[in-house]
Amino acid sequence: MFRRILIANRGEIALRVMRACKELDIETVAVYSDADRDQLHLRLADETVCIGPAPSVDSYLNIPALIAAAEIADVEAVHPGYGFLSENAHFVEVCQSCDITFIGPSAETIALVGDKVAARDLAKRANVAGVPGSDGPVETEAEAAEVARAIGYPVLIKAAAGGGGRGMRVATDDESLVTGFHSARAEAETAFKNPTVYIEKYVERPRHVEIQILADKHGNVVHLGERDCSLQRRHQKLLEESPCPVLDEATRNAMGEAAVRLAREANYHSAGTVEFILDQEGNFYFIEVNARIQVEHPVTEEVTGVDLIQEMIRVAAGEPLRIRQEDIQPSGHAIEFRINAEDPDHNFRPSPGRIETLIPPAGPGVRWDSHAYQGYSVPPHYDSMVAKLIVHRATRQEAILAARRALHEMTIEGIATTAPLFEKVLQHSDFINGEIDTSFVERYFAK
Ligand code: ADP
Repeated sequence: MFRRILIANRGEIALRVMRACKELDIETVAVYSDADRDQLHLRLADETVCIGPAPSVDSYLNIPALIAAAEIADVEAVHPGYGFLSENAHFVEVCQSCDITFIGPSAETIALVGDKVAARDLAKRANVAGVPGSDGPVETEAEAAEVARAIGYPVLIKAAAGGGGRGMRVATDDESLVTGFHSARAEAETAFKNPTVYIEKYVERPRHVEIQILADKHGNVVHLGERDCSLQRRHQKLLEESPCPVLDEATRNAMGEAAVRLAREANYHSAGTVEFILDQEGNFYFIEVNARIQVEHPVTEEVTGVDLIQEMIRVAAGEPLRIRQEDIQPSGHAIEFRINAEDPDHNFRPSPGRIETLIPPAGPGVRWDSHAYQGYSVPPHYDSMVAKLIVHRATRQEAILAARRALHEMTIEGIATTAPLFEKVLQHSDFINGEIDTSFVERYFAK
């Protein structure tokens, strides 16, 4: 097992990784930018290193600064968290060349699944159905029109390097296809320095359902059931739950097996997620692989009792998986709420600033994953997540009651947050009945 790990991240995930390290008796090295001197996890680290000014490109994305910190602090491994360098194949190679273990999949696997066009081919090889669409990248307007007419409108133009819902456009006819094709390419070029796009059938009113997988370096792969992440705004997740309220056992098993086949085909090791969309008829289609730990991992941890971050660390150190598929018996129902510093009444505009009052919720069935404390200032430079509230109860109905109770107890003053939206969602009959899709928030709560 590792003696010392560097955590190449900030915020709640840096704290989460640190907690896993402490429980494994591993020393931690925390890094921070100039804007992050007051991060909670810095107080708990064995060593802290400043890696640069506030902008991420100069700090959390600054590979030379991170490698220098890792060398100086003499670590054996780096945990990237999510975002930042977590899916950067080049960073993995640099770590490797410096004899530092990257806690995540190999550079080859990250590069392969990071290209969504290549990932669609991979799924096909693993006998996993993707959303009907183009065979590969779509290079010209004419080619786009040909594909769109063949599969039928509406279609979705997506960036091959996409993430965070960027570089994605819906087209309902030839005219919006041409506009969407060019604007998706331009957005993809700006965001990812790669204008490549492809086309998928736009599945109407789908649910987003994903499978958590865990794989070691010895060929063992298991899945840990699903998460339903249909509650989104602008194709970005706000609330996740497990199990999915509408999935039958046969579909659940088929999805789990598909995810494992895909992971094997990609030579996957570490924790990862295979994402699907589920149409109104109950058919599921592969959309992408996230080759990292995800924001919503606690939902799976609660229902399975598996500490995913600790398992990632063990697998990276070369240990074989300690769990077999039959050991995974999910129990109860978990829901996660992303408490972001955003104003849901004003189109989710960011609301950074000082948290004047913070009273976190607690009590039975409540987990609070957060780096925030009273007096902490949410900096404007990074993502807006302040906390993740996770509830776990025996049934979905009880989880909803616990969530209402927890949100009622929680007080955050000084910044706007997404909490008031969740209070409304928890009262909405469609949500209570489990009848939501990816446009639920826009349909009922868009302002
Ligand atoms: P990103 O990597 O940018 O997050 P994804 O491929 O994971 O992009 O898709 C994000 C979200 O966009 C999904 O959760 C879903 O809501 C929506 N989406 C993606 N593909 C389709 C599709 N073919 N039809 C309908 N909605 C889709």
